[in-house]
Amino acid sequence: MTESIADTITPGAVLVINAGSSSLKYQLVDPASAQVYANGLAERIGEPVGSSITHMVGNRERILEVALPDHRTAIAEVVELFRADGIHLADAGLTAVGHRLVHGGTEFHSPIVIDDAVIATIERLSPLAPLHNPPTLRGVEAVSELLPDVPAVGIFDTAFFYDLPAAAATYAIDTEVAAEYGIRRYGFHGTSHQYVSRCAARFLGRRNDEVNQIVLHLGNGASASAIRGGRPVDTSMGLTPLEGLVMGTRVGDIDPGIAFHLARVGGMSVDDVDRIYNKHGGLKGLCGENDFRAILERIDAGDAAAKLAYDVYVHRLRHYLGAYMIDLGRVDAVVFTAGVGENAAAVRADALAGLENFGIVLDSERNVERSRVSRRISTDDSPIAVLVVPTNEELAIAQQAAEVVLTS
Ligand code: AMP
Repeated sequence: MTESIADTITPGAVLVINAGSSSLKYQLVDPASAQVYANGLAERIGEPVGSSITHMVGNRERILEVALPDHRTAIAEVVELFRADGIHLADAGLTAVGHRLVHGGTEFHSPIVIDDAVIATIERLSPLAPLHNPPTLRGVEAVSELLPDVPAVGIFDTAFFYDLPAAAATYAIDTEVAAEYGIRRYGFHGTSHQYVSRCAARFLGRRNDEVNQIVLHLGNGASASAIRGGRPVDTSMGLTPLEGLVMGTRVGDIDPGIAFHLARVGGMSVDDVDRIYNKHGGLKGLCGENDFRAILERIDAGDAAAKLAYDVYVHRLRHYLGAYMIDLGRVDAVVFTAGVGENAAAVRADALAGLENFGIVLDSERNVERSRVSRRISTDDSPIAVLVVPTNEELAIAQQAAEVVLTS
């Protein structure tokens, strides 16, 4: 008979919740040992048909096809799935529920126990992240209702970047307009950049506050950061997660005038342009595909659109790499992470090709070795170390949430 997770779970676990507009990811994890007890994904929340929850315990996957009219129902179903595994989340000794929150504006720069005042502040910030903050708040409310005695902690995607130097955080836009509408560079993926940069320093056997590094988080969303001694000095995402690198479906940096052109000449609405920039841009806009694996396969088959998409992606990446090398002056490490960064050896090789004079010497054999752990892919005598460090945002959220609760 297979062992139930109820037998293996130790007190102190954290339930991590990442609620999007129509989806909700969750993970039950031990922040100390990094053991994942269970994880899952509720999809098509609020859609009339096709909603489901995929619940994983170890290698056992269960798919529940069930109506999910709202986030509350989704969470209630997840609680039931755990109950069927013998886990009563309300009294399983959880230290915290850690909620990934996207936009903390200038208000939140560290993890925070969520109470009514915090919820009110996040609601006030919603215009900064209209697509992201409202669904996460719905997730917070639903979990708090079902698990009223477990502290809810908010971990903000923007927090790591809260004290970017003014020159990096400020757009060259009318200062009164900027002040009135909160327009500045906030940065996103902060939990990942912070976690990965700490892991990289540890991997190098050095103190975090003495390492200068460039972290390239290349997933479906993608962002770069320049980190000096543990503190970010620049990052590629801005007021929203749209700026910067070419992404799966987002255009990244683009002439702001293109929006005016599409409106005036193309008669497009703000929503039309938003869709073109956010959902049908980037790799998808260029070749109709945002899954990097499929793009690489198409390139191998001689597909010109996929090749151009790839070249534009790498070109932009190299621009940021160059800019951040100048920003930092001295660079100890370039660190690749997330789905593309951890797995696509070709992207790493092409992004760093010909940079030997800048101190980056890739070891082509190490680069193509596959592994799930942190590793060095530069030669031993490369002045700048090139690392692949798997990100783990859920674990980082769980650790931060547990720390807040246990120290407050
Ligand atoms: P993430 O958002 O971090 O989950 O990353 C998703 C992206 O990583 C998708 O574009 C995937 O196609 C890409 N990816 C995952 N595995 C691989 C792989 N083995 N080779 C290339 N790209 C990959």
